Amino acid sequence: MITVLKFGGTSVGSTEALKRVANIIIAEKDDKVAVVSAMSGITNFLVSALEDKNVDLEDVFFKFEERHMNVAKELFDEEHLALFTKEFNERLDEFKTLVADKENWSDPFFKDNVSSQGERFSSLMLAHLISSMGHKSVALTAETAGVYAVGNPLSGSCDLKKTSIGMGMNVKPILENDIIPIITGFYGINEDGKPLTFGRGGSDYAASAIGNALDADVIEIWTDVDGFMSADPRLVPDAVVIEEMNYSEAGELAYFGAKVLHPRTIEPARMKHIPVKIKNSYRPENPGTLIHNFRKKRDELLKSVAMKADLSIITIRSGEIAYRPKLMAKAMEKIGEVDTVYGLSTSLSTMAFLVHNNDVPLALSGLRGIDFEDLEGIDIKSGVTLICAVGDDLLDRNGFSGEVFGAIKDIGANIEMISEGASDVSLNFVVPTESAADVIKVLHSRFISGGQ
Ligand code: ADP
Ligand code: ASP
Ligand code: MG
Repeated sequence: MITVLKFGGTSVGSTEALKRVANIIIAEKDDKVAVVSAMSGITNFLVSALEDKNVDLEDVFFKFEERHMNVAKELFDEEHLALFTKEFNERLDEFKTLVADKENWSDPFFKDNVSSQGERFSSLMLAHLISSMGHKSVALTAETAGVYAVGNPLSGSCDLKKTSIGMGMNVKPILENDIIPIITGFYGINEDGKPLTFGRGGSDYAASAIGNALDADVIEIWTDVDGFMSADPRLVPDAVVIEEMNYSEAGELAYFGAKVLHPRTIEPARMKHIPVKIKNSYRPENPGTLIHNFRKKRDELLKSVAMKADLSIITIRSGEIAYRPKLMAKAMEKIGEVDTVYGLSTSLSTMAFLVHNNDVPLALSGLRGIDFEDLEGIDIKSGVTLICAVGDDLLDRNGFSGEVFGAIKDIGANIEMISEGASDVSLNFVVPTESAADVIKVLHSRFISGGQ
């Protein structure tokens, strides 16, 4: 049996948190592989340093070192601190060399490299902590473990086949020797050997991909809440933990904004039927959420609601576009350049796409290149948010969408776009961003917590 345990930023963000995590790992009876994020705040700190035109690099490295070493000094005795500091300094020198060479700054993967540095140091610290507690452990980076990635800067996908070979060569022998590998999350190595990150929050996805590649028996995502909840608890204080979900429910919610899981976490696990558990590293005794293929049907209407902000609707207009499938196909082809299309909706004379605000210029330049003379215009509506409501067999429930839209009308919010029917577990629609929080709250109070 192999268990992959992933720990997020807050779970490795302080002396106390790291000690708790080390105990969780040690207590696990199966063969175990840990995957870690950077200490909380570190990735944001590195990303803002990259974005600051007047960045003071000396100050950045000073603060980076100080944050890690302050924790290390509390964790280790003198002898172990010396061992840790030696390796820490070697890594820090490599990081400094990378940044010192101005030529590197123009490399398209430079931001990936810098923003993924935090993971190299948190993994080192955790492996040393576990060793100092008398259990053999080794820190591996994506490079030394063999986690491979493909794709564009800052939005890589894991190459599962190559990663599986990497795991077989580098990680399985370590497990066979009863050593606990602690692997960096967040990034893999592209075909040129450069770090390529999986998007913000990507350590969940890295853990799922590593679980897939190792044929793990379970993937545990350890975070700072008790499990997958009926809504973001920061927005809805009476949100409740969901004990059990299936892959589609969790996948849709993560994709459409539930931050507890990176949007792509579910697929590598689902491909091999590996259960995913969400657990609280502050309260390991709590059962958490189990995500797998099978789940008993429940009577509840809705299970969970999530939202994805910063989106825009791009609508192309043409009289009777529905009778011009070639124009529709052309529009689809042009929109194909953007990273993600979050929704699609058509009418007799319009075709609308929902894309991230950052993708609007690219989408527009493609669509404006369409030379169909009957294309009458393109409209853009920014400042919209997608709401995703997930529950059992939503499509089979008579009048359910009517009830949902009725509740939204009651709070005076407008529905800008609807996409229902593609998935039988979710109902997705778009509202103006200023109404989104209220929409989530009203859906939760009427259909999940039950009050009116
Ligand atoms: P980590 O650093 O462990 O990856 P994240 O901050 O990325 O943690 O994700 C956990 C956070 O996700 C929670 O603290 C919570 O605020 C937020 N969240 C949003 N939606 C949900 C949800 N449906 N269930 C649980 N947590 C959610
Ligand atoms: N450290 C990375 C981030 O903050 C990856 C992660 O935490 O999952 O985005
Ligand atoms: Mg996260």
